[in-house]
Amino acid sequence: MALLNWQDARHFDATQNLPCALCGKPTPMRSHDREPVHKVCAEDWCDQHPGSIRFHS
Ligand SMILES: [Zn+2]
Repeated sequence: MALLNWQDARHFDATQNLPCALCGKPTPMRSHDREPVHKVCAEDWCDQHPGSIRFHS
């Protein structure tokens, strides 16, 4: 499993929740491209798309 290091505050938007790009549920988490996504969803996506850098920091 790909473990993302999303401890950085840049990956957390305290001002608003937006629908996760993968599961559609609200999340304050953001990818490095500011795409709303849960960390666990992004990790699952990375597992299913090896070689993609979509959600990598
Ligand atoms: Zn999600």
